Amino acid sequence: MENPMGSPQFTDILIHNNPNENHMKKVALITGANKGIGLEIARQLGKKDITIIASGRSQERVQAAVDQLIGEGIDAHGLQLDLEDPSTFAGAVKFVEDNFGKLDILVNNAGVQIEADAWVGNTTEGISQEVLKRTFQINFFGLVELTQLLLPFIKKSDAGRIVNLTSILGSLTLHATPGSPIYGTKMFGYNASKAAVNMFTIHLADALKDTNIKVNSAHPGWVKTDMGGDDAMIGVEEGAKTAVDFALAGNDSPNAEYSHLGDILPW
Ligand code: NDP
Repeated sequence: MENPMGSPQFTDILIHNNPNENHMKKVALITGANKGIGLEIARQLGKKDITIIASGRSQERVQAAVDQLIGEGIDAHGLQLDLEDPSTFAGAVKFVEDNFGKLDILVNNAGVQIEADAWVGNTTEGISQEVLKRTFQINFFGLVELTQLLLPFIKKSDAGRIVNLTSILGSLTLHATPGSPIYGTKMFGYNASKAAVNMFTIHLADALKDTNIKVNSAHPGWVKTDMGGDDAMIGVEEGAKTAVDFALAGNDSPNAEYSHLGDILPW
C-alpha cells in the first residue's frame, strides 16, 4: 500500500483498519488540517467516528497533527497535499482510491490571506499580480481541481458532502452595501478568491443536484487562528461548527447554502 506521508506508523494503521475490504466507516478528507480551523474540523468529525484524512502542505506539520488526533482516539491518517503544487493531487487521489475507494466528506478548508496590511483600507490598486495569482491558486484553482479529481470517489458515497470554507468577506452583496459589517474590509485578492469559491459552490451544487451530494459554503466566523489573529471573536471550537454541521447534515439538508451557524449570508 502506498502512503504519501511515507510514515510506517500510518501504513500500519491503514493495514489494520482496512484489510482489502470496503471501508464501512465514513471517510472525510480535510485540507489544511494541520492547524487552526481545519485541525478542529478534523477533531470534531473524528469524534463522530469518522475516519479522518488530514492533509497539509508540510509532511512534518501534518504528522504532528495526526499524532495529536490519534492520541485523542481518532482514526486519523496523514496526507501531504499542497494546493499550490497540483502535482501532489495525484497522490491524494491514489491514497483515497487504494485505501478507501470512496470519500464521504471533503472539507476544502485550506486557505491563505497574503495581502500586506490587509485589514485596513483597500488593497485593489496596489495588489501585485504575484500575490493575486498565488492567492487564487491556493484558495480557488487548487480547490476546484482537487474537488474535480475527488468527485468520482465522493459519488461512491451514500451521502457525499462537500464543504467549502469561504468567508463573509466573499459576499458581493455585503461589499456593495455601504454600512455592512464588512464594507470597510476591501482585501481584494482574498475577497475575490472567496467570492469565486462561492460561485463554485453554486455551480457544483447545480451540476450535482440529481445526486445525493450536497455542496455548501461555510463562513466560520472571525476565529482566533494564525489567520484570524488574537483579536478574533471566537475560538476554533465554535469556528469549526458551521463546516462540521454541513459535513454531518442529513439528506434533507440544504444544498448551495452560504451561511454561518445557520444564519444565511447574502452571496
Ligand atoms: P490558518 O492560517 O490558521 O490555517 C490555514 C491552513 O491552510 C493551514 O493548515 C495551512 O498550512 C493551510 N495551507 C496554507 N497554504 C496551503 C497550501 N498551499 N496547500 C495546502 N494547505 C495550505 O487559517 P484558519 O484556520 O483561520 O482558516 C481556515 C479557513 O477558514 C481558510 O480557508 C480561511 O480563509 C477561512 N476563514 C478563516 C477566518 C478566520 O477568522 N480565521 C474567517 C473566515 C474564513 P500551513 O500550516 O502549512 O501554512
